Amino acid sequence: MSYPPDPDRHDGPPPPARALRSVKTRIAEAVARSGRDPETVTLIAVSKTFSQEAITPVIVAGQRIFGENRVQESKGKWPSLKRAHPGIALHLIGPLQTNKAAEAIEMFDCIQTLDRPKLARVLADEITRQGRAPELFVEINTGGEEQKAGISPRGADGFIAACRTEYGLTISGLMCIPPADEDATLHFTLLARIARRNGITSLSMGMSGDFETAIGCGATHVRIGSAIFGDRRIRMT
Ligand SMILES: *Cc1c(COP(=O)(O)O)cnc(C)c1O
Repeated sequence: MSYPPDPDRHDGPPPPARALRSVKTRIAEAVARSGRDPETVTLIAVSKTFSQEAITPVIVAGQRIFGENRVQESKGKWPSLKRAHPGIALHLIGPLQTNKAAEAIEMFDCIQTLDRPKLARVLADEITRQGRAPELFVEINTGGEEQKAGISPRGADGFIAACRTEYGLTISGLMCIPPADEDATLHFTLLARIARRNGITSLSMGMSGDFETAIGCGATHVRIGSAIFGDRRIRMT
C-alpha cells in the first residue's frame, strides 16, 4: 500500500484526507503570515506514483487540482477518475517530450515544464490543431544544475519573449525546483524577480519540505506530494 496503516482509520477520515486538511491549514497560516489573500495560493496535490485507490479519498475530501509528472502514467489513471469526479484539473510538472506533446495538450489543464524552443513550437502547433490551450508555465533552472531541466536564469527573458512573439504562446507562470542542498529562499526570490520583470503573475514553487517558505516569497502554486499522500515507494528519476 502507498500509505501506512493508521490506528484511527475507522474513526476519522482516511489518512490522506486528514493529511490534506493539515496541509491546507499550514498553507492558510503561511498565507496569513505573509499578509496575502488566501485566494492567491493554489494547492496542487502531487499524485505521481500513487494509485487511483490512494487518490480517491483526496478527491472525496474536496481536492480538485492534481499534479503528475508523466504523460503515460496520467493516461492510465486519470480519465476514469475524471469521469467519476467532475471538475478535476491536472497539471503536468514533469519533463515533456515533444512526441508526447499532443497527448499532454489533450489531457492537462496546465503544463508547467515548457523549457525549450522546440517544445514551444510543437505545443503551439498542437494548440492550434486541437483548439485547446492549457495554461503554460516556463520552467527555470534557477540552480543552473546540469542534470535538471529548465531554462537558465540568464536565458529566461529571451525564451519567454520568443514564446510570446515567435510561437504566439501565452505564458502565465514560471516554475522552479531548487537544488536540494541549497537555501530555497534564494531560488524562490530569483524566480519571483524573473516573473515580475516579464509581467508574469503565477509562480509555481514550493513542495512538501519548503512550501511555507515559498508562500513567503510569493508562490501562487504549491506542489505538494508526500505531505499529503505519504512516502513514494517508487523512486522517481
Ligand atoms: C514530486 C514533485 C513534487 C512533490 O514533491 P513532494 O516533496 O513529495 O511534495 C513537486 N514538484 C515536482 C516537479 C515534483 O516532481
